[in-house]
Amino acid sequence: MAMTEPLCLLSVHAHPDDEASKGAGTIARYHASGVRTVLVTCTGGEEGEILNPAVNTPENHQRLAEIRLAELERAARVIGYDELVMLGYRDSGMPDSVANSHPGSFAQAPLEEAVERLVRVIRRVRPQVIVTYPEEQGGYRHPDHLRVNEISVHAFEASGNPDLYPLAGPPFSPSKLYYSVWAKGQFLARHAKFVEMGIESPYSEEMFKAWFEREEIPSTTRIDLNGFTDVRRKALLAHETQIDPASNFWFGLPEEIEEEIFSYDLYALARSVVALPERQEDDLFDEIVATTRI
Ligand SMILES: [Zn+2]
Repeated sequence: MAMTEPLCLLSVHAHPDDEASKGAGTIARYHASGVRTVLVTCTGGEEGEILNPAVNTPENHQRLAEIRLAELERAARVIGYDELVMLGYRDSGMPDSVANSHPGSFAQAPLEEAVERLVRVIRRVRPQVIVTYPEEQGGYRHPDHLRVNEISVHAFEASGNPDLYPLAGPPFSPSKLYYSVWAKGQFLARHAKFVEMGIESPYSEEMFKAWFEREEIPSTTRIDLNGFTDVRRKALLAHETQIDPASNFWFGLPEEIEEEIFSYDLYALARSVVALPERQEDDLFDEIVATTRI
């Protein structure tokens, strides 16, 4: 593939803060290597609660949507996203909540409409690589996360087809679609560390049942974050209303241990128009251009 076109990596996320908890270090690394990085966030996270007691005020509840957008913009800067695109939907809320049926919610939006919005972004920014969520998300059945998977797969397949969404810009085919993989090993390592250090583990018996007994999606790609292991933490902290800096769940272990555990991100190649990897890759742009190296 002749590569005169600049490299671009697009990630699709459901809510503000998902971009911080998933793949932040990977994005930072690609951004630093000169790849253009674009974040699509599908909803405004309006249904989120305020989980940090220090900022849990009635005024903040009133303007939560506005605050979450500001937090997202800050996190995107910390991570190194070159562009943030809001897809413009309302947070659908947790499974079986009233918010699921809100007419503006992402879950209620016609699939074609949401796909078209994403296709429009893809055709404009022309990413070779798209990263999204898998269908199976470790038992996490948030309707917006499932929807992110659906629209990403459809948009990846439709974007290069001139007969589909003709009003959404000139066709462009991305080369690879990846799923970000929840790395079970990282959470097992974390739990073991809590036990070893005599700190109360944030993982309950039920969590172990739901998460740990579940099969992990086999990864095809491992991105080492050397030099960018602190990005996740900093990006999480940008979401002041969502992430309590005193939370054991997020930051219960000493910083250097957290960074050692979260020193890599895992991905599974879900769709590809280029050659499939024969062994585990260490670069999302493998096979796209031989000269890309992070
Ligand atoms: Zn989310």
